[in-house]
Amino acid sequence: MIDVHSHILPGVDDGAQSEADSIAMAKAAIEEGIDTIVATPHHKNLRYDNYREDIVKNVSILNELLEAHNLPLTVLPGQEVRMYGEILEDLEKGEILPINDSKYIFIEFPSDSVPQYTEQILYDIQLEGYTPVIVHPERNRELLQNPNKMYQLIRKGALSQVTAASVVGKFGKKIEQFTHQLIEANLTHLIASDAHNTTTRGFHVRDAFETVKKMYGVETYYMFLENSQLLIENMNLNRFEPSPIRKKKKKRFGLF
Ligand code: FE
Repeated sequence: MIDVHSHILPGVDDGAQSEADSIAMAKAAIEEGIDTIVATPHHKNLRYDNYREDIVKNVSILNELLEAHNLPLTVLPGQEVRMYGEILEDLEKGEILPINDSKYIFIEFPSDSVPQYTEQILYDIQLEGYTPVIVHPERNRELLQNPNKMYQLIRKGALSQVTAASVVGKFGKKIEQFTHQLIEANLTHLIASDAHNTTTRGFHVRDAFETVKKMYGVETYYMFLENSQLLIENMNLNRFEPSPIRKKKKKRFGLF
């Protein structure tokens, strides 16, 4: 299995703090059936900057470390870019690192809002031949309150990735429900761990995929599995016509 979003690189953000942490995370990943993991350290999120060049170097050091420990896990380079105004300029400068050097760029919004210039930037990214992947939209307060903003962004060509832990309710009921609405409306294309450690922010990938299989059937299950593979191979992902999220009608009780 491939996990396309993780904070397994040591000492670069709020994920693994040491090589020992990275090794513990690698062991946990392998236990869940993961053999390939993308390291996506935070970039421009006000606390952490991780430039392309540094990530590539750190990924190769981590791969050597895992090999020395006989751990069958391959780490690929990626980056989780906070939405900001100069993404395009910095892409040109070589500071941005698409997932495994593909056309897919992971974009994170601040947790409580979607910046006003988002649509424009996502459009400009696509004009340059890249595809923005909105990561964990289900954990964004504005999108939670206005789910159809997500519909608009996906309709205009963005992809999205939900967190495995959200699929199985680890971020609470509201986020779990929104995650499933996104899956049902074809508004999300990838499931990944966004693991930061082995305790409070672990993997939950196996549980999430089992849940998807149970709730939506094997076709949806394989679609998500395959999309992770297609992403790292820079191929086009499976995507289905998105639909707006409709508020579920309250069940009527009583005589009617
Ligand atoms: Fe992340």
